[in-house]
Amino acid sequence: MNNALPLFGSKAACENVIIEKMNQEPIDPKFAYQLIKDQLIDEGNARQNMATFCQTYMEPEATALMAETFEKNAIDKSEYSCTAEIEQACVNIVADLWNAPDMDKMIGTSTVGSSEACMLGGMAMNFKWREEALERGVDLNKQRPNLVIFSGYQVCWEKFCVYWDIDMRTVPMDEEHMSINVNEVMNYVDDYTIGVVGILGITYTGKYDDIQALDEKVEQFNQETGRELGIHVDAASGGLFTPFVFPELEWDFRLKNVVSINTSGHKYGLVYPGIGWIVWKDRKYLPEKMIFNVSYLGGTMPTMAINFSRSASQIIGQYYNFYRYGFNGYKGIHSRTRMVAMKVAEEIEKTNLFEIYNNGDNIPIICYRLKEDANVTWNLYDLADRLQMKGWQVPAYPLLEDLENVVIQRFVCRGDFGMNMAESLIRDIQTAIEELESANVTMHANKKQVQGFTH
Ligand SMILES: *Cc1c(COP(=O)(O)O)cnc(C)c1O
Repeated sequence: MNNALPLFGSKAACENVIIEKMNQEPIDPKFAYQLIKDQLIDEGNARQNMATFCQTYMEPEATALMAETFEKNAIDKSEYSCTAEIEQACVNIVADLWNAPDMDKMIGTSTVGSSEACMLGGMAMNFKWREEALERGVDLNKQRPNLVIFSGYQVCWEKFCVYWDIDMRTVPMDEEHMSINVNEVMNYVDDYTIGVVGILGITYTGKYDDIQALDEKVEQFNQETGRELGIHVDAASGGLFTPFVFPELEWDFRLKNVVSINTSGHKYGLVYPGIGWIVWKDRKYLPEKMIFNVSYLGGTMPTMAINFSRSASQIIGQYYNFYRYGFNGYKGIHSRTRMVAMKVAEEIEKTNLFEIYNNGDNIPIICYRLKEDANVTWNLYDLADRLQMKGWQVPAYPLLEDLENVVIQRFVCRGDFGMNMAESLIRDIQTAIEELESANVTMHANKKQVQGFTH
């Protein structure tokens, strides 16, 4: 290899970077770095990706700390006992934020994200139900166990039900209730119900299920039947937002029947993907058979992860944020993001063209549809296209089941989306609308499509 050749004169630069079969010879690391980095250029700027809940910025100190800890394996509690201690500290912090009534009884773990956490929460409910159903003399062969959830669930719950052969009972969405209809929910519950899931931050719309009302319904059911039906709260997006901004809102372990909660550390926990958390209010809700003891400092430590080896750097990144920001740091960031989201929603509303479903007041997610009488020749897919020309990635997608003719658009505002960026987004939306109104540039008439929104 001629080492003096500049990158763009090199053999590597003459060839496709995407290879189907391994190269015979190595490539200079500087060249490999630059060429692979270049390969990713047109993926867009993650900071302008308004589709994702996942964190797109961390402080340089956090990034350095994480890069310096890639080699630590989160599962090796005995080799990396300091890391294990940091993970436990995070669990304690999260359980405290969720008002766990007894810190000695709660149990929790880090996961790769909310999907793994929901899988664990669902499994625990399933095993628990089985034990309880056997005691009650329920015929386990008569029908499959079921899970009751709002139809706007995130896909991880469908995975859970498919993997574990559980009947998913969805409470449908209607335009009045863009979250679970608590007056309907108990109609879906029977002897075979393993639990009810409440969602704090519905992925589709950003709405919150009314967990307090749900808890009242479940309590009434338990009183009447003598059962111990529990609620798992999927707080993937709300779990590390609400405790800082609305600490008085009761959705967590303060509610009697909420037995477990999950969140994504990589959403409003402000860590790069993938990190998640799950906490059970009391060990008794986590069946023994799901706990595996690994050796730790000469003793044993309970683990209940589905995955085995993975880097501990995300856990360390989460701890950095908790330790560095403190309660008021998170509160400050989240309150500011909320304010920015509400400002964007206000400007969108001013156009008089859109009906706002979520204005960022509960969580900084804006969701809207075109008004039925908007009288325009373009649709939300066209608007998404125009915005993409300015680098903004904005999803547009149809609502569910009975509302599938309603197309909505959603913006997820994150901590790194400042007022300066919001001002340019607002300007770009206004310009895009002007262009759509004055030119014949529409292209999506009557075409059904979905532009990503599930993360
Ligand atoms: C994002 C999300 C998930 C999945 O979370 P991951 O951390 O991406 O695995 C689950 N449930 C809800 C409500 C979500 O918003």
